[in-house]
Amino acid sequence: MARIAFIGVGNMGGPMLGNLVKAGHEVSAFDLAAPAREAARTAGATLADGAAQAAKGAEIVITMLPAGQHVRAVLIEGGVLDAAAKGTLFIDCSTIDVDTARAVHKAALERGHELLDAPVSGGTAGAAAGTLTFMVGGNKAAFDRAEPILKAMGKAVIHAGPSGNGQAAKICNNMILGITMIGVSEALTLAKRLGLDAATLHAISSKSSGSCWALNEYCPAPGPVPKAPSNRDYQAGFTAQMMLKDLKLALNAAQSTDSAMPLGAAAESLYALYCGAGHSAKDFSGIIQMIEGKG
Ligand code: NAD
Repeated sequence: MARIAFIGVGNMGGPMLGNLVKAGHEVSAFDLAAPAREAARTAGATLADGAAQAAKGAEIVITMLPAGQHVRAVLIEGGVLDAAAKGTLFIDCSTIDVDTARAVHKAALERGHELLDAPVSGGTAGAAAGTLTFMVGGNKAAFDRAEPILKAMGKAVIHAGPSGNGQAAKICNNMILGITMIGVSEALTLAKRLGLDAATLHAISSKSSGSCWALNEYCPAPGPVPKAPSNRDYQAGFTAQMMLKDLKLALNAAQSTDSAMPLGAAAESLYALYCGAGHSAKDFSGIIQMIEGKG
C-alpha cells in the first residue's frame, strides 16, 4: 500500500480520495477550503497544514485542482515539487491546458520526479463509484507505476502517449460531447415541433445512425432516459460552466495548432451564451432549453 498525498479534495477529489482510503492506502490531504478538508478527514485521510507538507514523505502526489493556474501555483510556486523526495510520482488528474501540463512535467523531471497528466471522465458519480476513466499522458514506466493506484478510483486506465496527451484526449473527447449535445438538442426540438415526441425519436435514433452518448445515455429532453439530469430540472451532473471551460481549452489548443474547429467554436459560443444567461451551475444538457427558446 502506498503513502499518497492528495491536494484538491473538492467535488471530484473528495470521493476519489475516499476510494484510495478504502483500497488501504495511507492518504494525507490538503485543500484551501475547510469543508473539503473536513470531508477528507471523515473519509479517513490525515490532514496536512499545507500542500508542501502533505507531499513530504509521500511516494505519490495526486492533484485535482480547478485549472492550469492552480496546478502551477501548487506544484511550482507553492514549492510542492521542491518539498517532495526525489523520485516521487506526481499524478495530475485536473483538466488543464496541454501547455501547462507539459510545463509542470518538465519542472518535475528537472527535480528528479515523474509526472503524469491523468484527467478523468465520469463526473462526480463516477468518482464516488470508483468507475472513472483515466486518460494518461507521460512515460510508460511512470504509467505502469500509477496504474494500480488509478485502478482503485476508476474502471478504465488508458495510456494516451507522452506528456500532455492525456489532456489532449480529454479536451477532444469533451469537444465531441459539447457538439453532440447541441446537435441532439436541435434534433429533439425540431422533432417536437414536427409532432414527433422525444421518446419516439430516442427509440429510433438510439438504434440508428444518430446514435450517440448524448442521446442514448444522457438525453437532454425529459422522459426517455430516467437517470438523465433532464428529469431533475437539469441539476448537475456536469455543469455548463465545466463544459464551457473544456471547450475554451479546445479552442485555445486549436488556435495554437492552426486547427479548424468551426463546430467546436460554435459550441463554445453557445455555452458562453447559456452560462451568461445565468445557467452556469445547471447541467450542460440544459442547453436544450435555450435552443427551445426558453432561456
Ligand atoms: P472543485 O472546485 O469542487 O474542487 C477543486 C478543489 O481544489 C476545491 O476544493 C478548492 O478549494 C481546491 N483548491 C483550489 N486551489 C487550491 C490550492 N492552491 N491548494 C489546495 N487546494 C486548492 O472542482 P471539481 O469539480 O472537483 O473539479 C476538479 C477538476 O476536475 C477540474 O479540473 C475539473 O475540470 C475536472 N473535472 C470535473 C468533473 C466534474 O464533474 N466535477 C468531471 C471531470 C473532470
